[in-house]
Amino acid sequence: MQSQLVCNGCRSTLLYPRAATNVCCPLCSTITSAPPPPPDMQSQLVCNGCRSTLLYPRAATNVCCPLCSTITSAPPPPPGNFQDLYLLQLTPLMI
Ligand SMILES: [Zn+2]
Ligand SMILES: [Zn+2]
Repeated sequence: MQSQLVCNGCRSTLLYPRAATNVCCPLCSTITSAPPPPPDMQSQLVCNGCRSTLLYPRAATNVCCPLCSTITSAPPPPPGNFQDLYLLQLTPLMI
């Protein structure tokens, strides 16, 4: 589940997990915004209020039901998709 984008700084092609919203370049440390995830990155949950099934982007942490306005907490994304972990993996080693 990786995507590619071109670094805003050095124009390198960077691989990043699709759930990431910002990608830190390991070469020039420029942070490039990732495009929004495609629709297949949506998940479902059951509203705590009216028990409707709601579609939400996986990156969301809380989902507001359009029917009853109840806010339901989304389950955390699976390990490995965390942006912070990815940034750590890309910490520049070229010193
Ligand atoms: Zn770069
Ligand atoms: Zn609801």
